Amino acid sequence: MNDSQVTGASAHYTEHHRRSIAEPEQYWTEQARQVAWFRSPENTLQTLPGGTHRWFADGELNTCYLALDYQIEQGRGEQRALIYDSPVTGHQVIYTFNELRDEVARLAGLLRQLGVTKGDGVIIYMPMVPQAAMAMLACARIGAVHSVVFGGFAPHELALRIDDVKPALLLTASCGLEFDRVIPYKPLVDKALALAKHPPEQVLVLQRPQAVALMQEGRDLDWEQGLRGAEPVDPVPVSSLDPLYILYTSGTTGKPKGIVRENGGHAVAMLYTMNQVYGMRAGDVWWGISDVGWVVGHTLIVYGPLMAGCTTVFYEGKPIRTPDAGAYWRIVEQYRVNALFSAPTAIRAIRKEDPEGRLLKGRDLSSIRHLFLAGEKLDSSTHQWLERLTGKPVLDHWWQTETGWPVTAPCLGLEGHLPAPGSSNRGVPGFSVHVMDEEGHLLKPGAQGSIVIALPLPPGCSQTLWGDHGRYLQAYLQAFPGYYNTGDGGYVDDEGFVYIMGRTDDVINVSGHRLSTGEMEDLVGQHPAVAESAVIGVHDEIKGQVPLALVVLKDGVQQDAEQVRLELIARVREHIGALACFNRVVVVKRLPKTRSGKTLRAVLRNIADAQPYSIPATIDDPAILAEIAEALS
Ligand code: AMP
Repeated sequence: MNDSQVTGASAHYTEHHRRSIAEPEQYWTEQARQVAWFRSPENTLQTLPGGTHRWFADGELNTCYLALDYQIEQGRGEQRALIYDSPVTGHQVIYTFNELRDEVARLAGLLRQLGVTKGDGVIIYMPMVPQAAMAMLACARIGAVHSVVFGGFAPHELALRIDDVKPALLLTASCGLEFDRVIPYKPLVDKALALAKHPPEQVLVLQRPQAVALMQEGRDLDWEQGLRGAEPVDPVPVSSLDPLYILYTSGTTGKPKGIVRENGGHAVAMLYTMNQVYGMRAGDVWWGISDVGWVVGHTLIVYGPLMAGCTTVFYEGKPIRTPDAGAYWRIVEQYRVNALFSAPTAIRAIRKEDPEGRLLKGRDLSSIRHLFLAGEKLDSSTHQWLERLTGKPVLDHWWQTETGWPVTAPCLGLEGHLPAPGSSNRGVPGFSVHVMDEEGHLLKPGAQGSIVIALPLPPGCSQTLWGDHGRYLQAYLQAFPGYYNTGDGGYVDDEGFVYIMGRTDDVINVSGHRLSTGEMEDLVGQHPAVAESAVIGVHDEIKGQVPLALVVLKDGVQQDAEQVRLELIARVREHIGALACFNRVVVVKRLPKTRSGKTLRAVLRNIADAQPYSIPATIDDPAILAEIAEALS
């Protein structure tokens, strides 16, 4: 896309996008004025050898101050800051900004008392309890660097992260809660600490009544007891370049990548995101539906909404079975939620259980302005179903752990533009999105290739990997000099709308034809009997690869599975053509997913190709793999 060619968008958005790319330094200098810095930066942008960038190098600030104390100074002390809703325990607790600041200041005092100081690493391994958010904010308050590890990661994965961070302290809780199960965390932590080469000397444990953790004398400390002796502390100034957090994401090797988020760029990006992208204003109620262990949990549950003066809903529940597929609608009505973020997989789960939207009837959703979806491809069938059911605009947008905030989205605060169905929308200001072929040639509109972002990446995006800058350069900047390689494939149309077709390794090659499995999944998903599907490329002696569709049918479907199978084959043949060789459709009960809801395609490919595979640590339910293997045998 040529940045000056954006058409059909509001003049406001177009001008912002143009300026953000043509004059990034001036543009972000202006945006940075929204932040209440302790010391305003004068040096906006620096380019480093190797091609990475530094934003606001000489600025000083404190992220916790911006999220809490500053909001109180603006008169929001008695406004609801965080609403904790836990359907399994029946707890609903509301913290005002005053209350949350007091809790966090005291916890920060406790951390300091335990010897944690500015620059120290702290691992947080906790369920969705408000103390997890307090822990993140408390670290930020004293300049410690937190790394939240998704609660429920197996000890081996936790140990890998501990050894990479070498933390001064680990914070955990005695258990997490599934639909109808209590998951004791402490035995997992104990095992991880035994495996780790650099275990912290101290562990702070929040005891929950559902499972009381056994404490190891001399190492483990009780959270509540510790707080009783702690004095509140004030936020300390940190440099813009000091890391706020490290967040691990999976790479192509078994070693996770430690994404580093710097305080200064992050603060500018958070305000920009909440206001200009999501169109939120102080006082609004925002619900980011995810877990603190993922990037959405950082950006859209804790930091973004609080720093923008919004109320954040903090939900320790699931889309279904806590207690039913009406949970989302209950929360929206009860807390008058103005906008929410969810992953499409959650919506598909709701749709599978309640295709007619029975549980939504009678609920008052009038507070909702928009529903935002991201994290994976939003198939048109789920998109339309949700829009029809709720009567609200459903907006697809695209980003990654690395960027920390949306790369493409309808920018509501800039009067945006009408979304294009099937597209994850246009580049957000700061992101100049292009498509390249394997040799690094920019491709014309409509042509599929690797999606890249021209450097510099805007503020807030990770510019390095923790302890391994070389890996960052190699993983993201080496393939296409001057551009950041997103690892996603797709195309940009002639109006600048970006279509994400899946990871570049999901594009398959059938007899020399490049085909998107995402496109096939979309077609399969439009069949009324289909709840969800995964289309993967499997090895074929003659054609190189052929697609294989694994399909989950909706509950209560009357149609014969064989009939559905034949209809799907006919549908793809009709829409894409015989060249797709779409002949293999297998109906399965469930798909293997990561705990964050992403389908484990690489594992599916290995099973289908009868190759050895290891069970990923992130898998939600390993038993599914045996079911799939049997269905494919
Ligand atoms: P993560 O870093 O785990 O959040 O995963 C980021 C990846 O999720 C992206 O690189 C995409 O492959 C995928 N993704 C995120 N949002 C979308 C979207 N709206 N459409 C398609 N894929 C998406």
